[in-house]
Amino acid sequence: MKEENLRITHQREVILEELRSVTSHPTADDLYDMVRQRLPRISLATVYRNLEWMTDQGMVQKIEVGGRQKRFDGNVEPHYHIRCMECGKVDDVELQQFRNIENRLVDERGYKVLGHRLEFMGICPVCRNR
Ligand SMILES: [Zn+2]
Ligand SMILES: [Zn+2]
Repeated sequence: MKEENLRITHQREVILEELRSVTSHPTADDLYDMVRQRLPRISLATVYRNLEWMTDQGMVQKIEVGGRQKRFDGNVEPHYHIRCMECGKVDDVELQQFRNIENRLVDERGYKVLGHRLEFMGICPVCRNR
């Protein structure tokens, strides 16, 4: 049992390291390919399960973009995303002026706000130059 726990912990560490090493917001399938380089015997189901668990723990962020496959982000600081309508690439967007958007809503309407989602859509520079 103890050895099993160690194995699970190690798998999680590798998945988290791989996710944090990129800013491409990979899908579980992408991450599976990355993790498999280091853990050849890991299964896609295990990668999925760990990603969901780490999302629940607040260690990673799950991005649900426009009905497509879920993507994951190793950066859990509040930030926004822009999705390319051509190739599906997801990039980070910094919006300083939106930092207090939730506080403003509380002040004006009396809601208790638990979170919000905002996604931008566009055409990335690579696709624009095609
Ligand atoms: Zn693109
Ligand atoms: Zn991001």
